[in-house]
This record gives sequence, C-alpha cells and structure tokens, in this order.
Amino acid sequence: MSTPLIFKFGGASVKDAASVKNVAKIIALFAQRPMVVVVSAMGKMTNAFEEVVGHWSTNELGLAREKIGAIREYHFTIIEALFADSTLVKAEVQELIDQLSKGVDKMECSYSEAYDYIVHHGELISTKIIAAYVGIETPTVWQDTRLLIHTDAQFRRATVHWEETTQAILKRIVPGKVNVVQGFIGASSTGKPTTLGREGSDYTGAVFAFCLGADSLTIWKDVPGMLNADPKTFQNTTKIDRLPFNEAIELAFYGASIIHPKTIQPLKKKGIPLHIKSFVDPTAQGTIIGGVDRAIPEVPNFILKKNQALLQLKTKDLAFIAEHHLSAIYQLFADHGVVVNLMRNTATKAVFCINHDAIIIPKVVAELTGSFDLELESDVALLTIRHYRKEDEQKETQGLEILLEQRTPDVVQFVFKRF
Ligand code: ASP
Ligand code: MG
Repeated sequence: MSTPLIFKFGGASVKDAASVKNVAKIIALFAQRPMVVVVSAMGKMTNAFEEVVGHWSTNELGLAREKIGAIREYHFTIIEALFADSTLVKAEVQELIDQLSKGVDKMECSYSEAYDYIVHHGELISTKIIAAYVGIETPTVWQDTRLLIHTDAQFRRATVHWEETTQAILKRIVPGKVNVVQGFIGASSTGKPTTLGREGSDYTGAVFAFCLGADSLTIWKDVPGMLNADPKTFQNTTKIDRLPFNEAIELAFYGASIIHPKTIQPLKKKGIPLHIKSFVDPTAQGTIIGGVDRAIPEVPNFILKKNQALLQLKTKDLAFIAEHHLSAIYQLFADHGVVVNLMRNTATKAVFCINHDAIIIPKVVAELTGSFDLELESDVALLTIRHYRKEDEQKETQGLEILLEQRTPDVVQFVFKRF
C-alpha cells in the first residue's frame, strides 16, 4: 500500500459534537490517502475514569456506579447531537459501559491493573463514536488497538513489544480505508488491557508511524503549533516553525505538555517528521519537528509543571546519603511508577521533586518512613526555563516562594510553593 497518513486527535479535539464534526471534516480533506487516525478519550474523560478507579480502590462501588452513569450521559449527549439515528452507536457504547460496570463490581486485582482496565474504556468509547461518524461520509474501519499494540504487563506504563506490534499492524491495517484506532492503550500477551502512561496517545501515533514506515505523523492541536510556552500559563508566546528532534525530546522531558516525552524517539529513529497543526485552522503551517539542526526561531522555552511534590529524606542517624540509599529509593520509585523531575542530594539529605499522585505518594511515604526522616511538601510546582536569559528569569520568578533551584548553562529550574 502507499504509505498511510497518520493523524492523532487528542481529547480536546473531540470534546463535543461540534469538535467531532470538525475532525471528520479534516479527515475528509485527506481521505484520498490511506489513513490511520489515532483518537484519545473525549474531553476530560480520562480524569472521570480515574475517579471511577479511585472509588473502586476505596470500595465505594455506589460512587463508582454514579460516576459511570455520568460518563455514559456525557457520551450519549454527544451521540444524540451527531446522529440522526443514534440507536446503533448507543447500543455499542452501552455494551462497553455494561462491560465496565461488571468489571468494576467484580474486579479483584492490583490497583494498576484495575486502572488500565477501567480507564481504557475512554478510548474504546470515543473511537466507536468517531469511527461511526466519520464512516457516514468516508469508508472507515474501527480497529481494536489491543490487537495491534502488544505490550508487557507493566500496567499504567506498559512497554511496547515492537516485533509483534509491527507484524500485527502490518497485517491488520486496511489500506483503502480510514482506520480509526485508540490511542494510549495496548494489551499484554495474555490479552489484558494496558496503558502507556497519561497523555500517551501521541506516542501511539509515533508507534503506528514507525511500524508503517509513514512519511509523517500529524498531531492536531488547539494551538497553532508548538509554542515556546503554554499560552494558558504564559503571556507573549512565540510559535516555533521548525525544531530539531533532540530539542523536542529535551522540551518534552521537562514537561512541555504539547507532546508526550516518548513520542519523538521512534520518529527520530526513522527520520519521520512530526507535524503539529491546528485543528481550528487546518491549512495553516504549524510546526515541523525533525530535519533541522537548530530551532527556527531560536527563543527561550518556559515550562511549568504543576501538581508536584517535594520530598525530602534525611538519614535517621545523620549518616551520609550513600549510593545504596539512593538506589533503594529509586527502586521504590520505579516499583510504584513515581516520576522524578528533579533531584538534589547533600551530605545527609536527598530532595526529590516528583509528580504528585494522591494514591501512590502516601504509599511510598509509608514505605520510606522506616528508614528516613521525611518531609513532604505537596503543593508545589516546577518551572523550567531552557536557553534562559537573565531578564526572563527575573520576570517569571518574581514574587514566588522558591524552595529549590537548580542551574546548568542551558537550563534553570525552580521548585516553588503554589498559592
Ligand atoms: N486519554 C489519555 C489521557 O488523557 C491519553 C491521551 O489523551 O493521550 O491521558
Ligand atoms: Mg486525553
């Protein structure tokens, strides 16, 4: 087959009926090419599914059922606005909702396994709706990503098994149609649903692009392209027209939420450029990542990570923090899936700025209290400035209560108290 176009649409691009219609229009513009369309859960649905997980884990099944009811209503409202006759699509979504409810009532497994089982329904439901709607005008096939993306069984942060995944994708993608697939999910060798980490649908797009040898991956966003800062948080942002792969990897690592950190690696390996384009203005230029040595234009980048915690560990007997302490701490973090964004150690102290997670962090803290004196500051944020200039730094940190600062020639980072 001629190389397919790979498009990825995130939650914000399918948050209501009007946006789904817009997505279908964009797809129709390009549908003369074979196409794989990766879609995330609608709007903020993944957060809603996470609430179901929370209720399941505290055994409040009544609350879990209520939340599932609200999730069903949200999708049914969109379906009713999209289809003249919504019977078929509603039945398909209802089937998924019933399967989810049964699972929540009966499931006895680890938190992470339950998380993936519950949360992956967001993508199953959204793609059912989108495939049906796009299919009205354009030949479309709904594909089950659980049969395409093979992973290990590390729930909530599964690793892709490339060999099997490539074979499955090459075998199952239908050349003459729009293939609508779920982002973010996969399945283990025993067929259990897994997820690739929050916001993982970009990465799914890269996996499809890699396996199919595509000549580009396009991520459709609500911004005109990649900006040097998130316009929701910073003023006076600049659009970046071209960006080298390495620079994009660095920015994603520091938390530039426009792309998932793992997305770039597979693309870079095969030299597949990543296009970031606006779903509001689909013919505008956007940003192209890859194929250049330096950014155009070269500007400082600002990245704010909210929802952080600062965890300080001190040895109980004031012994030096040694390698064996650090290795035990990192092992524990790895076991629980704690993400470390910044780390500093002194003679007797180790300080970590980590992603806050209301369920995981207390467990980790409980395990560490035996061996360390510990302080946890949970309402903090992390500001990173890459290619910083003195004046930007001063402007952005004015009035902040800075708890920790770390600097290299390229990057300066501040952990500060949120207010
Ligand atoms: N729906 C998932 C999430 O919100 C995956 C994604 O959007 O990329 O994390
Ligand atoms: Mg999402």
